[in-house]
Amino acid sequence: MIQNDYADFDVPQNLKFKTLDIIRMGGLQCSAQIAPDNFAGVLQAPNKIIRATVELSFSVANKDIIVHGTLRGEREVECARCLKHVTQPFNETFAETYSIKTEIIDIMYVVKQTLALTEDIRFLCDPDCKGLCAQCGHDLNDGPCGCQPENLSPFAVLKGKFNK
Ligand SMILES: [Zn+2]
Ligand SMILES: [Zn+2]
Repeated sequence: MIQNDYADFDVPQNLKFKTLDIIRMGGLQCSAQIAPDNFAGVLQAPNKIIRATVELSFSVANKDIIVHGTLRGEREVECARCLKHVTQPFNETFAETYSIKTEIIDIMYVVKQTLALTEDIRFLCDPDCKGLCAQCGHDLNDGPCGCQPENLSPFAVLKGKFNK
């Protein structure tokens, strides 16, 4: 039985673990809520992390330390079309292997990388989001605004020709 109960282990907010501590304890299972300001700048502004919890399991095997992590929380993301902000849950897992010669195991680096890589490049609040009117800025999801199209796109002109 390798896994002991280290529930009182004080998980550092910067998620940097001393390898010697992990080896001394023969592995470690821990979880912690990480304050969102630790993730400032990880997502594309104005998207941001509003809540994050990590669960970590370190095991010592020969010359390696293997880490399995689960990352859960919520992020606030902006719709690429209507610019509405939506709160979205996330639930990601990661696994990394470190040499026991590594002095500090920097889990924050992996966590930030995971958050950045799993961010939607072009988030839409709804696949059918109608976006904003280019002329008055009205949210077209709330209904039409009454603006007349100013200059027709080449496609609209073409469509007009075919309709004749
Ligand atoms: Zn939208
Ligand atoms: Zn309009």
